[in-house]
Amino acid sequence: MRTYPPAVSTARQAPLVPPRTVLVTGASRGIGADVAAAFARAGDRVLGVSRSGTAPDGVEAISCDVRDAGALTSVVTEQARGHVDVLVAAAGVAPTGLAARGAEVDWHLALDTNLTGAFHAARAVVPGMLQRRQGRIVLISSVMATRGGVGLAAYGAAKAGVEGLARSLARELAGRRITVNAVAPGFIDTEMTAHLSPQARADYLAQIPAGRLGTVSEVTAAVTFLASPAASYVTGTVLSVDGGMGMGR
Ligand code: NAP
Repeated sequence: MRTYPPAVSTARQAPLVPPRTVLVTGASRGIGADVAAAFARAGDRVLGVSRSGTAPDGVEAISCDVRDAGALTSVVTEQARGHVDVLVAAAGVAPTGLAARGAEVDWHLALDTNLTGAFHAARAVVPGMLQRRQGRIVLISSVMATRGGVGLAAYGAAKAGVEGLARSLARELAGRRITVNAVAPGFIDTEMTAHLSPQARADYLAQIPAGRLGTVSEVTAAVTFLASPAASYVTGTVLSVDGGMGMGR
């Protein structure tokens, strides 16, 4: 299978530095909100997508469900005129339930949001990146992609899919100077983890060599690095931000 024709021009490409146009999904709270705010502080134009349509100061808040491919494409073509330099796909949900007993609807919710939503976002931004022959895509995975978790079969499967998606996209797009990477957070202090019981929280903490939860800003630091000129030769990788929780896998 042939990939897209490589960028044949040897002309020096303008470095991807602010002001860039950045699309962040899942920007209403948690990791996505912190990532979006960081790009905005750096001087980028940031479009922040979520179902609720809220976003931090300095971020253009857009109501859009990542499960709807057409809606995401409209955001890119209409609000960004097809020009997105950096995509961060952070929209996610983590329904829980034992695989044999949980509701099938939760399986589809996890796959459709975490995996298909990231695919939709990438499909929306890639045509413009191919034309401009550069771009950065960062997909948010999870330590659960490789270690698994009790009650998290759908979520773990979706996040393993996200890492596979990142690697195939990276191979397809590398010749056009578009990098694609994943960031795999461990146990981060957000609304997603706030509902865990004290016992579950203690069990997870016992498995984290760093002995504490991570912060959203520690995840943001990895994302902004992968979007920066310093990471121009980094593609197809998964960068763990997990206090050592998933090491060795
Ligand atoms: P969070 O606080 O629950 O935020 C999730 C975000 O996704 C919200 O902005 C939510 O906004 C958005 N979202 C959910 N479904 C959506 C949909 N269908 N369309 C558009 N937006 C949607 O979670 P978080 O902890 O920040 O997690 C962010 C990402 O990091 C997720 O992909 C998660 O799987 C991953 N992650 C988190 C942890 C952790 O420990 N927190 C660990 C590993 C990986 P609306 O509700 O307004 O739509």
